[in-house]
Amino acid sequence: MILTGLELFNFRNYQRQQVEFSPDRNVVTGSNAQGKSNLLEAVYFLSHFKSRRAPRMRDLVLVGEERASVRGVIMDGEVRLTVQISFGRQGKSVEVNGQRAGSASRARGILKCVMFSPEDLYMVKGDPGRRRDFLDETMEGLGPGAAKKVTDYRHVLKQRNAVLRTWEEHGTRLGAVIGPWNEALVKAGAPILLERARMLGEMRKDVEVAYRAVAGEEKKVSIEYVSSFEQTEREVSGVEEMMRRALEKSGRDEKRLRNTVIGPHRDDVEIRLGERETRFSASQGEQRTLSFCMRIAQGKYLETTTGKVPIMLLDDVFSELDSDRRAGVLEVAGAGSQAIVTTTEPPGALAGGAGRVFRVERGKVTVV
Ligand code: ATP
Ligand code: MG
Repeated sequence: MILTGLELFNFRNYQRQQVEFSPDRNVVTGSNAQGKSNLLEAVYFLSHFKSRRAPRMRDLVLVGEERASVRGVIMDGEVRLTVQISFGRQGKSVEVNGQRAGSASRARGILKCVMFSPEDLYMVKGDPGRRRDFLDETMEGLGPGAAKKVTDYRHVLKQRNAVLRTWEEHGTRLGAVIGPWNEALVKAGAPILLERARMLGEMRKDVEVAYRAVAGEEKKVSIEYVSSFEQTEREVSGVEEMMRRALEKSGRDEKRLRNTVIGPHRDDVEIRLGERETRFSASQGEQRTLSFCMRIAQGKYLETTTGKVPIMLLDDVFSELDSDRRAGVLEVAGAGSQAIVTTTEPPGALAGGAGRVFRVERGKVTVV
């Protein structure tokens, strides 16, 4: 999949900007705070209809303006598509090929991309939530059906937590009202747990291969899904049963904490490099290398499951990496897909083999 053109209107620090991308490697250079990350964020937004950095859409609109839009021209094989999202105070509207899309959730994910950003090192060293976000994002990338599973679970969880907070006000026993919510949580949660474990199983090998290529060493990378409750089953009905039992057992904790204490929203991924758990021991370079390799694996997984090669968005991927690892990153990331890579440094070796080099200055992009 290739993004041939991008048009921004009042998006972040861009007032009006048009960019034509090369189908190969695009290098975006510029000093700090000029708009490099914002440009990648716009591409990500065109794919996911949300930003990873800003939970509130209004932060994406140029300060002082009411409305913003992002439009992309995409080549999906031989097929040319345009996707446009406009958003602002009056809500969001999506157009595909110039026609208003009936449902945004169906237009989401037409553009397939994978983004590495500097915050990704928290996937390796940060809280479990970062790793769950990675898995949820991977699922959302698979299409509307899988994305709906993620939102359905969040919805049920929210409602169940509301019951745990307020049941006393209704003068009943918790046991009398929680039953249906346990069942809803189990039905929504078990498929997610299985899907996540399966996705990780498929990505594991690609992380290892990429790690070897970038780091040039044979350290064993291990990535395991860790459930928040005892879980040994491999079929949905079995997982459901184990989750049901775990929920019953955690009743007392839930009463005290007024919160759902087990389920996919409390699960984690354990990452090890050699013998050590990376969360507590990986070096800066190792954290970056590993998180980059997880993004590569995410891209490969999307490619094999959807049949479309995602665009690689690599924000500041070279900092804290030595020259050997930088070369490795380029080799791994450039293989067979379109890439947009940002750097604060002069393009130097990066420019070699690059399709196009851009310079960003105060929200203006020029071709170098
Ligand atoms: P760095 O190299 O430091 O990562 P960058 O080029 O990636 O820099 P961006 O993150 O793209 O920088 O941000 C560029 C500028 O856009 C920043 O000064 C940021 O404060 C500004 N900015 C962010 N959101 C908005 C907005 N809604 N309106 C106007 N400016 C914004
Ligand atoms: Mg940046």
